[in-house]
Amino acid sequence: MSCSIQQVVQWIRPYWPITLSLAISTLFLCEACVALDHVAFERDGGMVHVNGKIIVEAADGGIILQDRQGSIWPLQPDQIKKRTSDDIPYRPMDQKELAQALLKELPEGFQIHKTHHYLICYNTSKPYAEWCGALFERLLRAYTNYWKKRKLPLSDPKMPLVALIFADKTSYKRYAGQSLGDAANSIVGYYNLQTNRIVMYDLTGAQDPEQAQHRIRNRAEINRVLSKPQAGRLIATVIHEATHQIAFNCGVQKRLADTPLWLNEGMAMYFETPDLRSSTGWRGMGSVNRERLFQFGSYCKARPADSLRTLISDDQRIRGKSTDPRFQGTESILEAYSEAWCLTYYLLKHKEKAFVEYLIFLSQKQPGQRDTPEQRIREFERFFGNLDAIEKDFMRQTTRIR
Ligand SMILES: [Zn+2]
Repeated sequence: MSCSIQQVVQWIRPYWPITLSLAISTLFLCEACVALDHVAFERDGGMVHVNGKIIVEAADGGIILQDRQGSIWPLQPDQIKKRTSDDIPYRPMDQKELAQALLKELPEGFQIHKTHHYLICYNTSKPYAEWCGALFERLLRAYTNYWKKRKLPLSDPKMPLVALIFADKTSYKRYAGQSLGDAANSIVGYYNLQTNRIVMYDLTGAQDPEQAQHRIRNRAEINRVLSKPQAGRLIATVIHEATHQIAFNCGVQKRLADTPLWLNEGMAMYFETPDLRSSTGWRGMGSVNRERLFQFGSYCKARPADSLRTLISDDQRIRGKSTDPRFQGTESILEAYSEAWCLTYYLLKHKEKAFVEYLIFLSQKQPGQRDTPEQRIREFERFFGNLDAIEKDFMRQTTRIR
């Protein structure tokens, strides 16, 4: 199948704010190019100039460009007005450069809190920005340690990791609505695959700008509010999205490579169980995700016999009367996520070595290439064995989780 950037844009657009698997083939990949590319293109009636490196070049002349801030730009041939390159090697922005660029781009009132790996851009209280920075650094450390112990090779992020934190839900929704549309009303945070940033709002209670004036101003208060059981789901979502960002920046996954969605989401859910009591470690990592297990239990009452096979083979599969793929449909999304968590949990508990080898294999896939459903199954069976046998053992082990 020959594909164009037009198709890439269509695939990406609905999923941009979250993780995706993307489908293109017969593209010329240009990862080894070191020169800085200068591209002028039309967008929304205006002209945009971006300097970066071309990471994918399609046969029809379309490209995917990565700029120095880390954003990716899929461009169709008729959008591109000028392309030049020079001998200056591509280099992502360092912390100082990126911080300056972000302050220029963000609305007035934003400040930046720097940690070792993160740039926390915020217009909420400084203690909340510091609390988030510490949380993300702990997550990154725990995530890295977890995989290193299991012999999964990881790299340090090649550019600072950016998190935008809005003071209140109203201003967050205004910003997030540009990417998420109406979904911004129900999503408390997201990882944007195009910009490589996570976006969220202050979870300590402020829903609008008036309330935000009374927001909590010290770390002890933040801990007290966010340790309450009702805050658990909100924090888990933020950690889930931060985990996606880490996976795409530490060499576990490549943006625009065809990583199966069940694995993508399953791994983020595996780490989303927060443990705010521990300031040095992350004791909750990999523990049973009760909510997902319960959802899977409900799904099992009418779970189709080929559920695992279709979960593994096709991210875009549409089930029953739904018009949306399984990971997006309002009916099917919880079922798909719960099965993805259960499968990830099962494989990591019972087939850990094969799981790590499978991850290494997937991390070597190149951006812009799409696997067929048959290939997905073949590759899965190569690492884990016959799928029918896995289905039986998976169900046996999952029903035993207490
Ligand atoms: Zn996710």
